[in-house]
Amino acid sequence: MTGAVPDPLPGWLTAARRITVLTGAGVSTDSGIPDFRGPRGVWTRDPEAEKLSTLRYYVADPGVRRRAWQERRRHPAWTAAPNTAHAALVDLERQGRLRALLTQNIDGLHQAAGSSPELVLELHGTVHEVACLSCGVRTPMRATLDRVDAGEDDPACRDCGGILKSATISFGQALDADVLDAAARAAADCDLLLAVGTSLTVHPAAGLVEVAAANGARVVVVNAEPTPYDGLADLVVREPIATALPRLVGRVA
Ligand code: NAD
Repeated sequence: MTGAVPDPLPGWLTAARRITVLTGAGVSTDSGIPDFRGPRGVWTRDPEAEKLSTLRYYVADPGVRRRAWQERRRHPAWTAAPNTAHAALVDLERQGRLRALLTQNIDGLHQAAGSSPELVLELHGTVHEVACLSCGVRTPMRATLDRVDAGEDDPACRDCGGILKSATISFGQALDADVLDAAARAAADCDLLLAVGTSLTVHPAAGLVEVAAANGARVVVVNAEPTPYDGLADLVVREPIATALPRLVGRVA
């Protein structure tokens, strides 16, 4: 079924007790953080910006790194507040129905809303930390942004001189194996997989939907645009996330 949130909700949805949620950039657009591929997305408006998230360009080109640091200084995550979609997922946890919250987002807004850090798996890392590409040391983002503010346009690692980058997963960079393993277990071990605000085009994250379905879970997709996994879903909701999600998870059988 595709369209609005059904009223009444299907019984299998209100009866689900081990829900694994997979979120993407669309969950945070109402918090003022643009997605990448939506109609007003960062890459839709400026295809060159994709280079900033691609490891080989970042490593090879100091100009790309300088631009990336300026973008990080201005990143909307520093001032963004969680919205009703983040709050609905906190509510789902309080109901005792949240198995895990797998997020492709790097903005930290699920934790800021009150989701338990031990239930949140950040598949693509976090923008709140910096990692050295040579020695791996991690430091708070703020400390490096202070160096950028003070005039260092491409700050190097203070321990080893290596290239610094936000602790996010760029294209060409492997996901943390432990995080991915835990996410795959949570996808395999749920009775409902809820994919929200993601174009489901980035792998391996998108493949978690298939893992859940193959293990017998129901699948709900909440996204304004079609995704490659809509055909696998028991329910596809096209309504805005901020109004759809509270209605989808707010009722328990
Ligand atoms: P995406 O940009 O590929 O897809 C987002 C989807 O959300 C789009 O299909 C769009 O139509 C939909 N959407 C946006 N706002 C919506 C709304 N209010 N209601 C309904 N649907 C809405 O995002 P993705 O699948 O998460 O993949 C992009 C990658 O970009 C991820 O790896 C993520 O790490 C990164 N990213 C993160 C943030 C963030 O942390 N907030 C922001 C931009 C990109």
